Amino acid sequence: MPIIIDGKLVSSKILDEIRAKTAELKSQKGITPGLALLLVGNNPASLTYVNSKRKACTELGFYSIVEHLTEDTPEEKVLNLIEEWNNDPKIHGILVQLPLPKHINELKTTLKIKPSKDVDGFHPENFGRLVIGLPGFRPCTPAGIVELLKHYQIDTFGKHVVVVGRSNIVGKPIANMLYQKAPNANAIVTICHTAAKDLRQYTRLADILVVAAGSPNFITSDFVKDGVVVIDVGINRIEDSSSKKGYKLVGDVDFNSVAPKAYAITPVPGGVGPMTIAMLMKNTYLSASGEITYEA
Ligand code: NAD
Repeated sequence: MPIIIDGKLVSSKILDEIRAKTAELKSQKGITPGLALLLVGNNPASLTYVNSKRKACTELGFYSIVEHLTEDTPEEKVLNLIEEWNNDPKIHGILVQLPLPKHINELKTTLKIKPSKDVDGFHPENFGRLVIGLPGFRPCTPAGIVELLKHYQIDTFGKHVVVVGRSNIVGKPIANMLYQKAPNANAIVTICHTAAKDLRQYTRLADILVVAAGSPNFITSDFVKDGVVVIDVGINRIEDSSSKKGYKLVGDVDFNSVAPKAYAITPVPGGVGPMTIAMLMKNTYLSASGEITYEA
């Protein structure tokens, strides 16, 4: 049986640490970490995500603001609100829940957020800082993956990591994090995407396989070698008549087929998923405590 990488366990450990450090920050320096969350429209998944993030803030003793604007809100109003939060000393982190309605330019809103409050780590300044190894906010899902590997003492030094997917929020940042000359990194990284003619040819070489493609159960046992560590980032809804909701969540990896060959594997749900909010909270705490510096 492989090690089942338990994201619920690791994330709750991280959240416990942040709760304790937050109490200290409040009592010693009078600073309460503050997170501003912006939701535009009524996308049901986005509503759930924003509610979970707000709940996490309350549980940790953070200050939070949730601004829920209607679908037809003009872009200018969104940009003005971000500017207001950029200048509000009670706010240490700003999160704009994606996707935004089509008339609002996603890149414009990302660029508007002050890099030192960009706790999602999506601003090009933070991405550039990641690439050249400077301090800055790292995107939450990839940062969560690094924490999982660290917790389970999965060595990355000199290991071949194959990443499937090149999105700006998962594939590119996790690849950039893992090849850095730094602790819990120093891996040899290959990035695969839809132009790969025979994906198996690459994934079979992986010591650590990170899959973020958004395609249900498509990595089967013939894609991996024995002893592989599998990190499944995918979250896909598939029809399930036996469930009350009518669907269930599965990853990009066919767990039952791959697990017998793996040394360690993340389940879906309960693997990478719970880490994302924990890392968002950690970034907000780090912003409030001033532990991430933007000085040259
Ligand atoms: P995306 O759609 O932006 O990117 C998917 C990438 O996968 C693309 O670069 C594409 O080239 C590549 N790809 C798709 N099919 C492929 C194939 N057959 N072979 C090779 N490459 C292929 O997706 P994303 O935003 O990175 O998300 C990926 C998955 O991860 C989704 O299921 C998403 O829901 C999930 N996700 C989970 C979390 C979390 O918190 N656990 C966070 C973000 C995304």
